[in-house]
Amino acid sequence: MRGCGVSGRPVLVVVFVLSAVVAAVVAATGWRRRRSASAVGALAFLAAGIAGWCLADAFVALAADAGSARILQSVKFLAVGLVPAGLFCLALAVVDRRWRPGRRVVVLLGIEPVLLVASVVTNPWHHAFFLATGTVDPQGVHTPEVGPLFWAHTGYSYLLLAVAVARLVQAWVKGPPAQRGLYAAILAGALAPIAANVASLAGWVPVTGLTSVGFCVTAVIIYWALVRRSLPELVPVARERVFDMIGDAVVTMDAAGRILDLNAAAERMLRQLRSGLPDRLVGRSLTEVLGGPPPEQSGETELTLTDDAGRAFDLNVHTSVLYDSRGGPAGWAVVTRDVTALNRQRRELEQANTRLHDKQGELERVNAHLREQQEELERGNARLCEQLRTIEVLRADLAEQAARDALTGLHNRRHLMEELRRAMAAAIAGDQPLSLALLDIDHFKQVNDRYGHRAGDEVLIGFAGLLGGGVRHSDIVARHGGEEFVVVFPGATAEQARARVDALRERIAGEPVQADGHTLSVTFSAGVAALVPGHSADDLLHAADEALYAAKRAGRNRVHVAGPRPEASDTAA
Ligand code: GH3
Ligand code: MG
Ligand code: MG
Repeated sequence: MRGCGVSGRPVLVVVFVLSAVVAAVVAATGWRRRRSASAVGALAFLAAGIAGWCLADAFVALAADAGSARILQSVKFLAVGLVPAGLFCLALAVVDRRWRPGRRVVVLLGIEPVLLVASVVTNPWHHAFFLATGTVDPQGVHTPEVGPLFWAHTGYSYLLLAVAVARLVQAWVKGPPAQRGLYAAILAGALAPIAANVASLAGWVPVTGLTSVGFCVTAVIIYWALVRRSLPELVPVARERVFDMIGDAVVTMDAAGRILDLNAAAERMLRQLRSGLPDRLVGRSLTEVLGGPPPEQSGETELTLTDDAGRAFDLNVHTSVLYDSRGGPAGWAVVTRDVTALNRQRRELEQANTRLHDKQGELERVNAHLREQQEELERGNARLCEQLRTIEVLRADLAEQAARDALTGLHNRRHLMEELRRAMAAAIAGDQPLSLALLDIDHFKQVNDRYGHRAGDEVLIGFAGLLGGGVRHSDIVARHGGEEFVVVFPGATAEQARARVDALRERIAGEPVQADGHTLSVTFSAGVAALVPGHSADDLLHAADEALYAAKRAGRNRVHVAGPRPEASDTAA
């Protein structure tokens, strides 16, 4: 180009303007897609600086004199300052997808551009950036002579570029092979401006300002490598966030087991298992990190790993093969879930279930035992009830026996007295009459004497039968003792009682009794007394006894009524 002469200037201007347009397009596209990866954001930043630089170079090339060229050079360095910082950030972000420029990095990287602008703006006073003298290059472009501050800026820029290149080279050597193409493309892109700049500074090319065009080439190459080729293959936009948000540990590896990428959960899990791991795990072999074998086949498995402190972790590991764009196996995706807590809970649940089962069994046994005891108790209860019933029957029998006369079966005197007192109280309470008759068999001693004591007994039994059969159900019949009997007539006056006893007397006298093979006629004498309020049972019996005595004296086989006019009521055979 040295031979181009002054006529080369318009071409140069067109090259600069075209470069500015291309860089601006890359910057705009990168800006739009900056969220896909931080490297794309850094590319937008870098390309914007390059676009400004190229545009400024175009204006410098058009400058008519050294003065205006110097002013335009000052404006150019506003954009130039952004470029090394942008390339530096881009290199770091490409090598580590998770890298983001923190506030400290932004401040540190911002210092030099600010100083650069300050030194360029204040140059007319100190002439330490551009010297007062200048040259005109073969194309007629006014180029100021540069001073020590310019070289300081250039040195700093090369330092940043060197760090960026070193990082890329290191990643290219040690990093996952799948990424090597990207690293190589960016390295190649970075070499273009370096070569152009070195050539310009060394005077190997007839123009002084081709560095910006070189950077434009850089921007295009990186744009192609990063946005057009790598991004669609590596990290679809939405997935990146999901990748880091999911709780399962996800690691992608190349075929040799080297980590290509891992999410936050995987990073946490690996650091929990192994202390002292290096800051950057991408590019390291998983076997080297964990000490386990690399994956051999797709599928799901459970394994237990022990951390450095000896704690066991139960892991559910899901391995699947990753394929490249040509369908060949490119590596592995390993999704791991920590199921330690889940397994522990499952074990505790099983133990609790077993304990519950045991308790249930025990409860059933206790229940069965209780049922047996209850049945035993019920059987005992039934036996007791039966015994109580027997006792009750026996007691009633005994009470009946105690109330009965053994020979005749009629109630005895003791029972008579109880019944008589009850009947008297009821009659008084109900204001009803009550009468009592005392009967004595006539000449009974003669029966004994003549036919024997046994015949006497049989006469007594027969007489009792006739007496019991001749009274009403409500009347009370009892043997008073020896051959004497009592009949109580509740509700009957003395006269009514007398009439009924007399009817009885006539009937018994007319019915012979069988006694020890003999047929005997039996008569009786009777005394009747009516209840007098204020008199006791003994008083009543006594009054009847007196009437009986009177009947005996009067000739026997008759009924006498006690009272003030006994004669008037007497009846006789
Ligand atoms: P009266 O007409 O005056 O009543 O003369 P009685 O013979 O009936 O009366 P007494 O008092 O003289 O005799 C009653 C007899 O009854 C005397 C006694 O041996 C007899 N006796 C009393 N209880 C029984 C008994 O349970 N069985 C027999 N076989 N005789 C009895
Ligand atoms: Mg007697
Ligand atoms: Mg008698």
